[in-house]
Amino acid sequence: MKPPIPFDAPVYVSRPLLPDLRELSEKLEEVWKAEWLTNNGAQHRALEERLRTVLGVPQLSLFNNGTVALIVACQSLRLSGEVITTPFTFPATPHVLTWNRIQPIFCDIDPLTMNIDAEQIERNVTPQTTGILAVHVYGTPCDVAAIERVADRYGLRVIYDAAHAFGVEVDGRAVGNFGDISMFSFHATKLFHTAEGGALAFRDPNLKPRIDLLKNFGIKDQETVMMPGINGKMNELSAALGLLVLEHVEGERGRRHELAGIYRERLRGVDGLTCLETLPGVRSSEQYFVIRVDERRFGASRDRVFEEFKKYNVFTRKYFHPLCSEYACYRQLPSADPAKLPVAHRVASEVLAMPFYGRLGADDVSRICDMLLTFRGSGA
Ligand SMILES: *Cc1c(COP(=O)(O)O)cnc(C)c1O
Repeated sequence: MKPPIPFDAPVYVSRPLLPDLRELSEKLEEVWKAEWLTNNGAQHRALEERLRTVLGVPQLSLFNNGTVALIVACQSLRLSGEVITTPFTFPATPHVLTWNRIQPIFCDIDPLTMNIDAEQIERNVTPQTTGILAVHVYGTPCDVAAIERVADRYGLRVIYDAAHAFGVEVDGRAVGNFGDISMFSFHATKLFHTAEGGALAFRDPNLKPRIDLLKNFGIKDQETVMMPGINGKMNELSAALGLLVLEHVEGERGRRHELAGIYRERLRGVDGLTCLETLPGVRSSEQYFVIRVDERRFGASRDRVFEEFKKYNVFTRKYFHPLCSEYACYRQLPSADPAKLPVAHRVASEVLAMPFYGRLGADDVSRICDMLLTFRGSGA
């Protein structure tokens, strides 16, 4: 086989969905005419309503980003003390606990789904535990039934970081219906985005007024401030963009699904490489396409593969390495001890997120696979 040719332009893991600029200008004309840029304007109301339907959830509240949404989720449920979470995630997940003066307790993960290991949550429960903050990593749903059982046994609240899980369904049930609250991120790198943005989804209608107060400084009316809230509001420009991006999400999901099929077919049976699989009964978000590199069998480490790809102008990402429990701000916590997180450490050394977005061609994916196969046996 001829050695693959490097790409002329850099290839990244993701590219944002961009609606037609003229369509966006037309939409923005509505905003200009209304002379209303934020605070629950017409675009905001329209997007909130649309997303309630698209995400199949009874209650939804939009935010300026997913991180502030998660901070508010913890406040709305009055979490305190300790919350059990996963080290294998984006830094925002444990950070929102810290911003609420809650201690994150890191629990090991499942070797296959790479989500929090529900069987190990119980051993981390103490009298200070008030909740579980689990992540549907890469959109793979957590073991929601097992998490609900532990939560019920100890009276814990459950929040899901569903940042990767836009449109995921489990046996026909929309993923935002599990636990007390789910957070969706609409950051530019997510399948659906509003440039920056996010939402909380929940079933309890009584939570809606409290969440909406918390995201608007706690202001009830011109004379009454109920609580120390924050500014978590989504603006009209982002909401307008979101309404247009939403029209392209299903097309993008379909194209990514096809690309995932090509990756899987090309990499099937390669010793030491495994592709992230969609669980039976699950509708995938197609947020990321992740492979795992077993250094011993593939003859090259994940870090080696990452470095080799760069020579071909391909910029993969080590999502999620290092673990959150390895950050300087968390590594002194008793639960961050690597001896207690063996699976998370192994997984973090193996994962690699591959280029995965609709505008990438089938040929490009094939060429990336050709490159990967030449890295076999290239060492640590
Ligand atoms: C993107 C992401 C977030 C943060 O969302 P923002 O909207 O960027 O604040 C939180 N958790 C996970 C797992 C994410 O991937």
